[in-house]
Amino acid sequence: MKLTLSFDNGPYPDVTPGVLDALAEAGASATFFVCGKEARDPARRPLLERIRAAGHRIGNHTESHRVELGATRDPDAPRREIEAAQAALGAFADADRLFRPYGAGGVLGPRLLSAAAVRHLCSGGYTCVLWNSVPRDWEDVTGWPERALADLRANDWTLLALHDVPTGAMRALPDFLARARDTGAELTAELPPACVPIRRGRVVGALEGLVASG
Ligand SMILES: [Zn+2]
Repeated sequence: MKLTLSFDNGPYPDVTPGVLDALAEAGASATFFVCGKEARDPARRPLLERIRAAGHRIGNHTESHRVELGATRDPDAPRREIEAAQAALGAFADADRLFRPYGAGGVLGPRLLSAAAVRHLCSGGYTCVLWNSVPRDWEDVTGWPERALADLRANDWTLLALHDVPTGAMRALPDFLARARDTGAELTAELPPACVPIRRGRVVGALEGLVASG
């Protein structure tokens, strides 16, 4: 079984360095999905430097982290939520132009994307990165590793979405990584194809159920 790690909604000075230490200790590479509003914050730029210097990838996690692209009626939302964040990331952005939509609690469904958003991602050469494990670390800061381990055992290849935000949940990360190793998980930086419906601007996977109708 394989395990790919991702961290959303950071970076935070009191959290992300600890996450980087845990990843280094485990010899793991991950992808960090960062919002434009955070990427623009001068206090976070040194953290983005550290993430990149440690060999991890950085992706775009929308500008505001408020707009569900499949639910909004604002025709300017795809441009603003995708492009403004990409511009804010600048040279920190991964060459594959990784983009993770805002999921309002990690729900995979038709509120994630619109036809216009898909067109925008394709014309912009983006890679859309979803997930198949959301153990809700933000609301169960000590119990999430059990759910993540259950997902790990249930899937051939788990793309785990965690959050490097100040909830305290990331204090359990070193222990989780050790237990994942003991379970036999192979940590990989590669993204499972089943979680990547758009790769470098081409639709390569099923978008069914992920795009709003009409
Ligand atoms: Zn998020």
